[in-house]
Amino acid sequence: MIHLYIAAIIFSLTVAMLLEAALPLFAESKAPLLRWFRNLTLSALAVCTTLLVSALFWASSRALGVTPGSGALAAMGLPIWAQWIATFILLDTITYTLHRLSHAVPWLWRLHAIHHSDIELDATTTHRHHPGESMVAALVNLPLLLILAPPVWAVLAYSITAVTVATFSHSSVALPDWLDKVLRRLIVTPAFHRVHHSANQIQTDSNYATVFSVLDFLFRSASPTVPDKGRSLTIGLETGRDPANQTLKAILLAPFRRKIALDPIGPSTTRTNSAS
Ligand SMILES: [Zn+2]
Repeated sequence: MIHLYIAAIIFSLTVAMLLEAALPLFAESKAPLLRWFRNLTLSALAVCTTLLVSALFWASSRALGVTPGSGALAAMGLPIWAQWIATFILLDTITYTLHRLSHAVPWLWRLHAIHHSDIELDATTTHRHHPGESMVAALVNLPLLLILAPPVWAVLAYSITAVTVATFSHSSVALPDWLDKVLRRLIVTPAFHRVHHSANQIQTDSNYATVFSVLDFLFRSASPTVPDKGRSLTIGLETGRDPANQTLKAILLAPFRRKIALDPIGPSTTRTNSAS
């Protein structure tokens, strides 16, 4: 099944890049090949992490005698269609919660800041995550999946939906305002998510949702989109913008430095970058 997930990553990235060429957010189109190479290398590392944890999940399931559809969801007597809906809602809420915690808990922010340290935003930023962050996400999801044992195809369908929507929402695409407005009532759109990548901390600490934007409205973490589709926003973090902090080596080592140069602009209310 992992090959379907990898195919979804490649397909969504290709479609998003074609969209970026057809409806560019900026008049001057750039082809930052070195930045793309770094982001895509990090994507490959994230896929390897997912593969490793999938193998761990498979081995744990076998050892514990867990089979898909035999866990807590099935024990509640839910019909299969309700298990599918519950799987989508639960997995997206878990992803939202972990993302919000990643902005509030200093050691989680150290890992997540790598995603925010990209000084431009496009489809390749979607997969710019530190392997340590991918590992934490997998280790949070693994026990929950073992307990809930949702239908395996529902988990795959959610994963493909999440990666597709995330690639779309990170892309540098200028959707017509009316379309973005209609879509963001249900799902995360480029204008909605661009605010999350603003270097201003009030905006960085908002719009956390991955698939369903309603989670941000429900948990009062939504920030309004900006009128120019986010073109005027400074993307990234206040520090760590220089080339020396954007190399692959610097990105991979950044979370382990005693003091890291990754912080948004504005008052830091919930985290510090100094190692404790
Ligand atoms: Zn974030």
